[in-house]
Order: sequence, then C-alpha cells, then structure tokens
Amino acid sequence: MRGFAMLGIGRTGWIEKETPKCGPMDAICRPIALAPCTSDTHTVWEGALGDRHNLILGHEAVGEVVEVGSLVKSFKPGDKVLVPAITPDWNSLEAQAGYSMHSGGMLGGWKFSNSKDGVFAEFFHVNDPDGNLAHLPEGIDPAVGTLLSDMMPTGFHGVELADMKFGDSVAVIGIGPVGLMSVAAAAIGGASRIFAVGSRQRTMDIAKEYGATDFINYHDGDIGEQILEKTAGKGVDKVIVAGGDVDSFVPATNMMKPGGTIGNVNYLGSGDYIKLPRSGCGCGMGHKNFRGGLMPGGRLRMEKLAALITSGRIDPSKLITHRYEGLEHAETALMLMKDKPADLIKPVVTI
Ligand code: NDP
Ligand code: ZN
Repeated sequence: MRGFAMLGIGRTGWIEKETPKCGPMDAICRPIALAPCTSDTHTVWEGALGDRHNLILGHEAVGEVVEVGSLVKSFKPGDKVLVPAITPDWNSLEAQAGYSMHSGGMLGGWKFSNSKDGVFAEFFHVNDPDGNLAHLPEGIDPAVGTLLSDMMPTGFHGVELADMKFGDSVAVIGIGPVGLMSVAAAAIGGASRIFAVGSRQRTMDIAKEYGATDFINYHDGDIGEQILEKTAGKGVDKVIVAGGDVDSFVPATNMMKPGGTIGNVNYLGSGDYIKLPRSGCGCGMGHKNFRGGLMPGGRLRMEKLAALITSGRIDPSKLITHRYEGLEHAETALMLMKDKPADLIKPVVTI
C-alpha cells in the first residue's frame, strides 16, 4: 500500500509498505477523511520525538472498517468510524491507574505516527477497536468527524487539566484549532470571562463566535502584563496553554491568581526546560499548579464529544478552512500545516 511518511528528521515522501495485518483484537480501516496536525510538524521538522524512518504520518481520520479480528464485537466491515489520535491499551496498568494515554509508558497510548504507522495511507491498523473506535453518528460529515480525532478532545482536555469551574475567568494561550476548541469548551463549561491570546484576525473572529470575551495579541507585549492590566492587577483563575513555547509558562503563571492551574496541551517541540517564574509562583508558595497532558482516547469520550455536535451544542466545522479531495493531498495539507498561511486554521482531506 501507499502512504505519506516521515523519512527522517526534516524529510517526508510517499512510500510503499505492506498492508497491515489484522490480529484477533484488531481492525484494519481505510481513511475516508483525514487531517494533518501541528503535532506532525513538530515530529517531522523539529524531531521532537527523536528520529523516525519511513514512518507513515497522520493520526486524525474518519475511516471505513475493512477487516476485523475474531474477538471484535462492536464493529464489522463497512462500518464508518471515528478514529481517535490516541488508542490506548485498555488492559494496561497505566490505564487501570487512570492514565490510559500513557499505557505501556509515557505517551504510549499515542501510537499512530509515533510508534506505528499513521493514517495517511490506503489502510491503517487499529488496536482494540471495541475500546478505541466509535461509530460515526448520522449527520456528522466525515470531514467534520476528523476534528473529533484530536482537535476537540485535546482542546477540551486543556480545560479539564486547568480544572476550570463555573464562573472562572480563563485565558487560552494559542487559538489555533486546539485553542479554539478550548475556548468553546470553556464557554459551554461555564467560564465567566475568556481571554483569547493569538494574533491572526481570522482566529480571533472564530474565538469570538465560540465565546471569547477579550482578545490579546501576543505581538503587542508581555501577555501576562496585558491580562493583569485588563483585570485590575488580579489576573485570571485558570490558564489553558495551546500555543507558544517553553517560555510561555512565565506569563501564564504571572497572569494567574493564587490557587490557579495551568492546563497545558501544547506539544513543546524544542527547549530542554519549562520555565516557571519564582516571583509569579509566590516564591514557591503561591499555590499555583502546572498540569500538562496528552489527550485521552477511548470510545466513550469520542461518543460523548460527538453527542455535543449532534445535539448542536458545538459546531467544530468553523475550524475547517481548506478542503481537498484525494489521498495524495495528505501531503498538500501537511505542507500547509508546516507553512501556516495567515488564513489557515485546519485543512481536511476527503477520500
Ligand atoms: P497552531 O499552530 O495552529 O496554533 C498555535 C497558536 O498559538 C496560534 O494561535 C498562534 O498564534 C499562537 N502562538 C504562537 N506563538 C505564540 C506565543 N509566543 N505566545 C502566544 N501564542 C502564540 O496549533 P494547533 O492549534 O494545531 O495545536 C496547538 C498545540 O497543541 C500544538 O503544539 C500541537 O502539537 C499540540 N497538540 C497537542 C495534543 C495533546 O494531546 N496534548 C494533541 C494535538 C495537538 P498565530 O495564529 O499568531 O500563529
Ligand atoms: Zn494531533
């Protein structure tokens, strides 16, 4: 089969590989829609996970099941399925401890385009489909369904990590597709005031549609100072980080009230240390918390997030700015993610 792969750090190309084999607890799917992720760009062009050779990229897809193993109960060939980016081993000790995304070791639930071939191929392999896949609900366009693989679950997880409560004021640092889903999640979760930190007008406009109340441009100076100024020096209750770099935690900490929590979902592609400011941490006594996480996978979560779409509570299709048809455009779409033209939020490819 053909797939679009990372050949080595900084190098990509189309390769031929053997079609994956289906074990008794596996499924083989073909993608009917797929999307590239900013994470693919960290992996390929920053070498953030280390080197990979001839590894097929991509972890966001809606698929059609072509084969299932003898022990699979809930899916059969022909079913259209939502495919999460993270596909844990649900019987691992880490999953039993509540950290399925780290099953088998840190980040171990992230298999596609990390430890095994991803979805930018004619076929891809899914472990434990009963635990990991979800049926594509009637009424969700497969292109929109790709946003359930990673953008919605990750954006929502940022809000969970920040432990946001009703009435909290929050800042969302970074309003690409992930941060925009954090804005939407904060709004439906009951945030009182939502500061959206970005720079591009298009993303600011969509943040407003999803419920942001205040807009901060990180090119206009220190974002911590800008938010402190807008809150009479008090700061916000919680901060979600979905953009920036290892230095972003300095303003994130400074802009937070004592007792606040930073929920980070940003994939830190470079830099050896995450910086926290001494004084902003109350000289180490400010009850400020940092929590960073990989999105949880799992069928139940996919079904619940999908229900937010079918019930009309959230419309993630606003994120789709570029559409292509044909597997060969996995490459076009990934290069767009790398170059990030000003009008881009999320490209989607249907097949
Ligand atoms: P984008 O690159 O599309 O968006 C990044 C956002 O951060 C943009 O709004 C950008 O602004 C803003 N930004 C850039 N630099 C700064 C800065 N110095 N200070 C403040 N804001 C800044 O990324 P995505 O939304 O696609 O993804 C966000 C992150 O989430 C990525 O690192 C991705 O790899 C990661 N991720 C993590 C997952 C997880 O499970 N934890 C899963 C999926 C993705 P501008 O528009 O001006 O460029
Ligand atoms: Zn991703």
